[in-house]
Amino acid sequence: DIRLDGITKSFGETQALAGISLAARPGTFLVLLGPSGCGKSTLLRVVAGLEAPTGGRLLLEGRDVTGLPPAQRGIAMVFQSYALFPHLSVAENIVFGLRARHVAAAERQGRLAETAEMLGLTKLLGRRPGQLSGGQQQRVALARAVVAQAPICLMDEPLSNLDAKLRAEMRREIRALQQRLGITMVYVTHDQAEAMSMADQVVLMRDGCVEQDATPAELYARPASVFAASFIGTPP
Ligand code: ATP
Ligand code: MG
Repeated sequence: DIRLDGITKSFGETQALAGISLAARPGTFLVLLGPSGCGKSTLLRVVAGLEAPTGGRLLLEGRDVTGLPPAQRGIAMVFQSYALFPHLSVAENIVFGLRARHVAAAERQGRLAETAEMLGLTKLLGRRPGQLSGGQQQRVALARAVVAQAPICLMDEPLSNLDAKLRAEMRREIRALQQRLGITMVYVTHDQAEAMSMADQVVLMRDGCVEQDATPAELYARPASVFAASFIGTPP
């Protein structure tokens, strides 16, 4: 599980996170939702260990990881930009992190085949990222996260480069994948429809604070503020 206790983060004069506390049980699909600049990406980067918090504590699976480097946190992350290596094949991109962590070749091959199958990439393994569509590149980025077999996965607006139809399809795929693997997901978006359709738990943020932490149904039924009500809107 994930537990944040009063996490703060300042960049000089700017307070990006003003004291964030939240908890997610194992296997939860948690969405961080809120307007541009409210601190979603900063919070995700703090959880990943890419940014040190100014204050507060972070516990993963009951372990205080506040001072640990990213590699020791048991976390996989998918970025908005995919960040694929253009000169490497799809297969090499997927197992890059395993290679870096010295996972044995046979184990790598097994996990690669399984992950590629799961994400419909088996026929594309020999191509380079430049020879793939946006949706296929997105699948490769997902495969790279899944293949790590981390208990926690973080995604920062992973679908923002895709068209509406593909986005809807990938939402379903990501949700199905998360359930199948039983992992805990922290998924960042500023799209309320995306948040409400995917989440078990929505953490609505505003100006570096948690405005409301609830299920989608609770948010629709009992928004905690005028801000929450207007940001969430009415059910589709
Ligand atoms: P968006 O939806 O636009 O991606 P966000 O919710 O992810 O927004 P953050 O990127 O977390 O927002 O930024 C939160 C605040 O912290 C903003 O005011 C931003 O300008 C500031 N900020 C983020 N990173 C830095 C940095 N490296 N240096 C200075 N200020 C930063
Ligand atoms: Mg962001």
